[in-house]
Amino acid sequence: MRTPEDPREVLRRVFGHEEFRGRQEEIVRHATDGGSGLVLMPTGGGKSLCFQVPALCRPGIGIVVSPLIALMEDQVAALRQQGVAAAALHSDLPPEEARAVLRDLHGGRLKLLYVSPERLTLDGTLARLDELPIALFAVDEAHCVSQWGHHFRPEYRGLGVLGERFPGVPRLALTATADPRTVEDIRVQLGLTEAPVFRASFDRPNIFISAAPRESERSQLRGLIREAGGCGIVYCGSRARTESTAQWLCADGHDALAFHAGMDAGAKREAHRRFARGDNVIMAATIAFGMGIDRPDVRWVAHLDLPRSPESWYQEIGRAGRDGLPARALLLYGAGDMALARHRIAESPASDEQKRVERSRLDAMIAIAEAASCRRALLLRCFGEEPAAAECGACDVCRTPPRMFDGTVAAQKLLSAVVRTGQRFGLGHVVDVLRGRLTDKVAQFAHDRLPTFGVGKDISDSVWRGVARQLVARGALDVAVENHGELVATEAARPVLRGTEPVMLRQDAVQPGPRRAATAAAPVGSGDPLFEALRLWRRGVAQAQSVPAYVVADDRTLAGIASRRPATEDDLLEVPGMGRSRVERYGADILRILREEA
Ligand code: ADP
Ligand code: ZN
Repeated sequence: MRTPEDPREVLRRVFGHEEFRGRQEEIVRHATDGGSGLVLMPTGGGKSLCFQVPALCRPGIGIVVSPLIALMEDQVAALRQQGVAAAALHSDLPPEEARAVLRDLHGGRLKLLYVSPERLTLDGTLARLDELPIALFAVDEAHCVSQWGHHFRPEYRGLGVLGERFPGVPRLALTATADPRTVEDIRVQLGLTEAPVFRASFDRPNIFISAAPRESERSQLRGLIREAGGCGIVYCGSRARTESTAQWLCADGHDALAFHAGMDAGAKREAHRRFARGDNVIMAATIAFGMGIDRPDVRWVAHLDLPRSPESWYQEIGRAGRDGLPARALLLYGAGDMALARHRIAESPASDEQKRVERSRLDAMIAIAEAASCRRALLLRCFGEEPAAAECGACDVCRTPPRMFDGTVAAQKLLSAVVRTGQRFGLGHVVDVLRGRLTDKVAQFAHDRLPTFGVGKDISDSVWRGVARQLVARGALDVAVENHGELVATEAARPVLRGTEPVMLRQDAVQPGPRRAATAAAPVGSGDPLFEALRLWRRGVAQAQSVPAYVVADDRTLAGIASRRPATEDDLLEVPGMGRSRVERYGADILRILREEA
């Protein structure tokens, strides 16, 4: 019997990383010693190493449950690059390949096996595993077991048997969902109620977060793309919007594609593949595009519509910058979104309890969008985390604090114009009345004779829109979205109209969004001819092996090589991200490029 290898040794030798990050080491040691647990870590936090390292340290094979074939295959490809005997077993595998995997399994030639939940819980598969030494079970994307989330997968329920059937084998469940209900559900369903929960900080300081009222969607998005560059994701509220967005982005000269749940399985797989391999590819997608994005170098994530909760927003923007390099998130929102989302909840068939939960999540999301103080601090508090500082310095509010003004009078004027016009008109008409514009419609309804006609001449249209949106945000105004966007004053408008509740409003910058972040978000090494030469080489290697480029080596590793300019294979081994296996495979090529570019 061999003694377990030291986790740090494995981290260096196999993965080429100098140090564990955050709570990784604690988790790895716990599992290596045979302990089970639940790991909560944000996307990009480094969950994979938490089970990969213990699997390599312990005798036997590590079994990894993963819900998505694309995700499995990329992880297996990456592990093989690092010299780890890994394989995947799922229903899409041709029979002869599946047989080869099973032969390797029984021959003890595998160290890690990725398997889909339905395949693992087949009697046949479990019976095979009974006969093998197993290092650990890892259940990735463990929130799929819970009906509370939006990614429920019934097959995950079957994983509850693992604890009883393999009592001595450690089980790690991992997820980026920290919502307390889901967490409790995972523990119960997977039989982990006695096991510790490892909760990492959910802060992702390299992601610059910003939000802005939707003024001109296309130019706002163009601005983000110009500043952040590289590969990105645009989340859209509807399938049609993913397609129209991909279309105009292509017309702009970008490599853009669409993704939504209505596409057939083959088209989805192809889209995943193109996204994983494209250089500066942009994906316009609904939230159906989520799991399976393993690319660490997504530079930006934009939302054209309001997400339904801070949890979903954070999970989606967390897909940016997993490599730890600067990345950007931009949320665009409008009064209509907020009202629409509220109506949807009210009209959904869910129980009152569920509706209450959904409403409070939405309100938290709206508060973040309309924030007058650090957005990151608000976000982290949603995850039950107290931020280290009141100001993060890496969100638009911290960079350019908005000016606040006493908007009580403006709010009263607007609400009273809404009420006096009979709550039957949209914002455009109400603003016409406030600004004293004698349009046909104003004349038709004799609204020029109202006392509110022209009382808001001194305030611009866009400021009025902002006032209306902030009143919608605080629930004093409702927008009849399904109708013609008529504004309706709610119960919450009363104290404002009576003057018993002051309204502080945010003066929205006309051109929102940080300019200064532009330089911060430039990818490391870009523009350096040596870095570009290495990227070119990498592209060739990736194409030849038909794997995504980052599987060969990620940007950070290439940037490390470009800045250190190692002269020997030993020096190369010192570059973070270059494990022994990569050096053996590519060392000679890389050193040759370094000599040629010198
Ligand atoms: P998650 O599954 O939590 O979203 P990953 O496991 O994919 O995150 O890790 C995200 C990125 O961070 C990967 O590119 C990985 O190589 C890198 N990474 C993880 N742990 C470390 C570490 N200790 N040192 C350096 N890089 C790390
Ligand atoms: Zn901040």
